[in-house]
Amino acid sequence: MNLDKITQRYFNLFPGDFSGNPMQRQTPNFLFAQTEIYGYKKAQLLHFNQNLSEEIGLGKIENQEDTDFVNATNLPENIKTYSTAYAGHQFGQWAGQLGDGRAIYAGEIKNSEGKFTEIQWKGAGATPYSRHADGRAVLRSSIREYLMSEAMFHLGVPTTRALSLSLSGEKVARDIMYNGNVDFEQGAVVIRTSETFLRFGHFELLAARNEIDTLQKLTDFTIENYYPEIDKNSGNKYIEFYKKVSEKTAEMIVEWLRVGFTHGVMNTDNMSIIGNTIDYGPFSMLDEYDLNFTSNTTDLPNKRYAFGKQAHIAHWNMIQLANALFPLIKDEAALENVLVDYSEMFWKKHDEMMAKKFGFEKLERYDADFFTSWQKLMEEISTDYTLFFNQLETLQEDTNIPEHFKKCFYQNINSNQETLLIEFVENYKQRLSYNQISRDESKKIMQKANPKFVLRNYLLFECIAEMEEGKTELFDKLWLALQNPYEEIYPEFSVKRPEKYEGVVGCSSLSCSS
Ligand code: AMP
Ligand code: MG
Repeated sequence: MNLDKITQRYFNLFPGDFSGNPMQRQTPNFLFAQTEIYGYKKAQLLHFNQNLSEEIGLGKIENQEDTDFVNATNLPENIKTYSTAYAGHQFGQWAGQLGDGRAIYAGEIKNSEGKFTEIQWKGAGATPYSRHADGRAVLRSSIREYLMSEAMFHLGVPTTRALSLSLSGEKVARDIMYNGNVDFEQGAVVIRTSETFLRFGHFELLAARNEIDTLQKLTDFTIENYYPEIDKNSGNKYIEFYKKVSEKTAEMIVEWLRVGFTHGVMNTDNMSIIGNTIDYGPFSMLDEYDLNFTSNTTDLPNKRYAFGKQAHIAHWNMIQLANALFPLIKDEAALENVLVDYSEMFWKKHDEMMAKKFGFEKLERYDADFFTSWQKLMEEISTDYTLFFNQLETLQEDTNIPEHFKKCFYQNINSNQETLLIEFVENYKQRLSYNQISRDESKKIMQKANPKFVLRNYLLFECIAEMEEGKTELFDKLWLALQNPYEEIYPEFSVKRPEKYEGVVGCSSLSCSS
C-alpha cells in the first residue's frame, strides 16, 4: 500500500491541539486534536475492499505493515492521527461540542487523477471527543456500516464508503436496549473513506465559539476543494456555497426516498457538508412503504426522523447551517430566499425521480395527482416498496393484477383493496400510454430507478448472527448482491421481509447502541 503517500492537510491549514492530551475535554480555539491510537494485540482483518483501495490510490495489501495499518495496530511514522471537533443539534436541541468520539483520521490520500480521499478508522478507541464513552464499536454495528455504505454507493446514492472491516480482538460492553442489561460483544474497527468528513456541525461549532477566522478559513477550504464551480473571488461566494449545500442535501434526500432509505439520526452533526450519507447507525431500508416509519427506537414516540419527514428535517438542519454561516454572509434575506427555494427545488427533484420510478418519459403537471393516488394506495395496503416497483415493471397487458402484486403485500387484501389496486393499475397504464417512447424504453428508465436488491435490515440481522459465529457465507453473498443492486443475482433476496421478523428489534427498527 502507498502508506507513505498519506498526508495530513489539516495540520498546515487549521489550528490544532498538538499537546497529545488524551483527556476527554473541550478544545476551544482548535478544529482538531492530535490523537494517539493505542492499538489492539489480536486484531484480525475480516474483509478488505480492494476495488476502493485501488480507486483512491492506496493500492493492495502487500505486507504486515499494510495489515497493521488497516487493523490500526501499528502505524508508519508519517501517519499522524487526529480527530476533529464539531457540534450539533441532536433531536432538535443544541448539544454543544460533540466531535469525533470514535473516529480517528489517518489523513488523506491522493489518487492518480489528483483526487483526495480522507481515511478514518471508526471504533479504534477514545479521543478527546469521546464524552465518557469508550470510542469502540461492536461487530454488529460495524458490519452494518461496512455493508450498507457500500450498498448505498452501488445504488448510486452519495455516501461515505467502507474500506475494511476488522475484529479488534477485544470485548466491548454494551447495553443494547438501554435497559441495564449489559452484554460483552466482539469489538470491531471499520475504515471509512470520503472526499471529506466535514459536517454541518463543524461550522456550527466554530460559529457558536465565535471563532470567525477559522470559520472563514474552513468555508474557503470547503469551497475551494469541494465546490470548485463557485468563483472563490466572488463577493457572493458564501451565499453561493450555502445554496450549493442546500442543493446537494436535497439531492441526497431525493436519493434516499428513491431507494427507501431511512437514516434514523438526522442530527446536524450527521449532515455532511457535501451531501454524502454519513454515520450509519440505526438506519433501515423500507420493507413496507410507510412515511411514518422510523428505524430508530430512540426516535419514538415523536418519530422526528421518520422516512417521510427526512426532507423537512434536512430543511430544519439547513436553517441551523444558515445560522452558522451568518457571520460570513450577514444577509438574512438572502439566506431566507435559499431556504424558501429549497422546498420548490426539493419537490421538483423529487417528482422527477418518482416519474422515473414509474417509467414516465417526462414529468407532467398532472402527475402530482397520480402520485397522490399512489400514496393513497400505499396507505390502504401494506406494500413492499421495492417489490412493488419491480412488479410494476413486469406488468403485461393480460396480467392478473391482484395475483401479480401478491408477493408485495404484508397482509391479505380484501375486495375493496383489490378494487383500489386494479383502479390504480388501470390508471397507471393509461398514464404510461402518454409516453412517446416505447414500453421497452420506459422499462429501461424504471430499471435504472428501481433496485432489484436492497440491503434489508433482516438480511443484516441474519448476516450478523452468522458472523458472530465466524461464518461468512451470507456476508459473501450480500457483498456480491449489493454490488449489483439493479440485477437479481440471488432470487432468494427478492422477497419481502419474512413474517417471523415482523416487529423484531434489529430487523426493522434498531437502538442507537453501537
Ligand atoms: P452518533 O449519533 O452515532 O452520530 O453519535 C453522536 C456522538 O456520539 C458523536 O460525537 C460520536 O462520536 C459519539 N459517540 C457515539 N458512540 C461513541 C462511542 N462508543 N465512543 C465515543 N463516542 C461515541
Ligand atoms: Mg454521528
